[in-house]
Amino acid sequence: MKIDSLQKLFVEELRDLYSAENQILKALPKMTKAATSPELKAAFEKHLKETEGQVERLETIFEALGEKPKGKTCKAMAGLVEEGSELMKEDIEPAVLDAGLIAAAQRVEHYEMAGYGTVRTYAKLLKNKEAEKLLQATLDEEAATDEALNELAESSINLKAV
Ligand code: FE
Ligand code: FE
Ligand code: FE
Repeated sequence: MKIDSLQKLFVEELRDLYSAENQILKALPKMTKAATSPELKAAFEKHLKETEGQVERLETIFEALGEKPKGKTCKAMAGLVEEGSELMKEDIEPAVLDAGLIAAAQRVEHYEMAGYGTVRTYAKLLKNKEAEKLLQATLDEEAATDEALNELAESSINLKAV
C-alpha cells in the first residue's frame, strides 16, 4: 500500500515501535539474568513490566484505528539487541558487564524516545487525542527509565567497573 499521508506514516511508525517493544520483551529477561547488581536487576524488571503495558497501549491505538499491529520488523532494535547479546557472550568481568548492560539499555531507551516523540507529535497533528495521551505516557516512561539508568551508572555501577 502506498504511504501517501501522515496518517499512513503514523501507522507504519507505530508498527515499527510495536516490533521494537516485542523484541525488548524478549531481551530484558536475558539482561536481568546477566546483570550482577541487584539494583540493575530491579531496574530491568521494573521496565519489563512497563514494557508489557507499552505493548498494550500500542494495541489499544491499533484497535481504535482499525489497523493491525504486525507486519513490520524494527531492524534497528534487532541490531541493538544483537549488540547487547554479543556483549553478554564476551569474557567480561561482572561489574564491567553491568556498566555495558546499562550502555546497551540506554541506547534502546533513546531509540524508543525518538520513535515515541515522533508518533506522539503525529498523533497531535492528526488530532488523535487518545493516541497522543497514550504515546506521551510511554514516552515519559522511557525517559524516566533512561534517567534511572543514568543515576545507577553514575552513583555506583560505573565506579565499580573502573
Ligand atoms: Fe518501551
Ligand atoms: Fe525501527
Ligand atoms: Fe524502554
